Amino acid sequence: MSAPSLLFRSPVSSASSSPFGAMSAERQDLFFSLALTALPRPMINPLCQIVIARLERRVPGLKQRLQPLDGKKLFVQPEELDVGFLLSFRNGHPELNALAVGSPVKVDAKLAASLDTFFDLLHGKSDGDALFFSRDLKVDGDMAVVVALRNAMDGLGEDLLSDIFSPPAPFNHLLNRVSSVANRCVDRVVAPFLQKTARLESDIGSMRAEIDQLRRHQYQKAQPPFSKVEVVSSVEKNNRTSPKVDQKPIELLAPAGTPAALRSAIDAGANAVYLGFRDETNARNYPGLNFSRDDLKEGLAYAHERGRRVHVAINTYAAAGNMQPWYKAIDTAAELGVDALIMADIGLLSYASKRYPDLSRHLSVQAGASTPAAIQFYYEMFGINRMVLPRMFTLDEIAILKEKVPIEIETFIFGSLSPMSEGRCALSAYATGRSPNLCGVCSPAEHVRYENREGVLVSQLGDFVINRFEEGEAAGYPTLCKGRYIPEGGDACYLFEKPECLNAAEYIASLRAAGVTSFKIEGRQRSRFYTTEVVSCFRALLDAEAAGEAIETLPDVLERLHKLAEGGEETRGAYRKGWR
Ligand code: SF4
Repeated sequence: MSAPSLLFRSPVSSASSSPFGAMSAERQDLFFSLALTALPRPMINPLCQIVIARLERRVPGLKQRLQPLDGKKLFVQPEELDVGFLLSFRNGHPELNALAVGSPVKVDAKLAASLDTFFDLLHGKSDGDALFFSRDLKVDGDMAVVVALRNAMDGLGEDLLSDIFSPPAPFNHLLNRVSSVANRCVDRVVAPFLQKTARLESDIGSMRAEIDQLRRHQYQKAQPPFSKVEVVSSVEKNNRTSPKVDQKPIELLAPAGTPAALRSAIDAGANAVYLGFRDETNARNYPGLNFSRDDLKEGLAYAHERGRRVHVAINTYAAAGNMQPWYKAIDTAAELGVDALIMADIGLLSYASKRYPDLSRHLSVQAGASTPAAIQFYYEMFGINRMVLPRMFTLDEIAILKEKVPIEIETFIFGSLSPMSEGRCALSAYATGRSPNLCGVCSPAEHVRYENREGVLVSQLGDFVINRFEEGEAAGYPTLCKGRYIPEGGDACYLFEKPECLNAAEYIASLRAAGVTSFKIEGRQRSRFYTTEVVSCFRALLDAEAAGEAIETLPDVLERLHKLAEGGEETRGAYRKGWR
């Protein structure tokens, strides 16, 4: 058994002159790594019980959060250890037990990754989906269990997790003593070295700033890289060479799958967030995700205290004969004082416009309105204030459309893509009986299974094999539109869409010039880490663009975005498409 790599991990904050004192999360990881590596299995179990007892004591509403996991069992395998952890759920109570690897236990799903990866996930420092796409996190079995667990954990928030995973008091005391001795040693022996390093870092920082400055000058002088571009719109041409300043700020609109994600998005610089209730009234109805009435009330207070807005998606189509859940969602959102409703169903638009005429109504992408006449109709009939554009328009088409409609335009800037048949796709319903249009979920996790077959990851949706990923190949979620199929006489290929991620960062200036008011980030189903990363990256890009700088001057930011892409690949989507 090899020692966990975590023991040799470098501290997060290298700037501190007392590295041990400033790394509580690292210290927790260190403690648990040591304990898991050195202790015999029977002694690990009491630690597990302490963690679970704390979780139950300190998390309000835990029972409700864990409800989708009732009766499920999951095996978590840190790859460096010869023990794994059986996590099971009964009546809203979790149980955690250490087991030898290979123990004959029937489980619903298995997770395997390095100990380092699991600690990063627990501390909200990495995105589970991105780790899964890159195959650093291996998943086997029932995806609904994994998704429900991810969402429940993600909703806890970083402070709480640090609290729950802090070492038990006697060990904590011991660690504090060790830390204090270590700090004294560091001060005497290492401090002079750290000071020298700090000076060098400062010199390197100045050099980097000069290099960035030179890059900016070079970029502004250089021809724009049109050679890479198959189709370049007139809007794009007009805006690539002359970045503008002093323009109206564009709204950065972030996904909030959980209350913790809402707070993270706002702290990272989002102007507004969008979210849904915990039911089929919104198009991301996944287990463990979304907001209760109380969650929304608290989220609104957090956002409004900071001058940010909250939009509520009630964007599925109401069930015939059972409109009540949708009406109730509208009433609750209005009563709590949300800033806008996002809707597609004309019955719901009519209800909201008559009952709450002063509450902003945004037409969801799910409505699939794709012509000025269609949008004008919604404006005249239901007084919509904003249109969320389907992801099918070029930059020029957006500019033309904006000239013809008297309302705000919101476009997607980053996130997962589908073949642009918003609100009309029945593929998921065909395979599973549930679709995003009526039930709020495409390819529901309870119909998804992953199996590792000798290094090949096979993904299934219901009875259909959707994809096979060779070892090392980036993986994706099995939606039917992103499956690989074998056409007659051909080889397996993506017939509709590849699993890839829209990244329209390079069109920020062009979209602004086309009259776009709001940039929407897709991904309420993704982790809190994803939300924080994408929001802070786009905050940096928007600020740079507003200051007249080209986004190419922020290569680190573009690289961070790339790491979060579904399937590990990015696309510019329809913004510069040459087909219709
Ligand atoms: S199958 Fe694809 S196109 Fe259809 S709803 Fe799901 S993601 Fe969208």
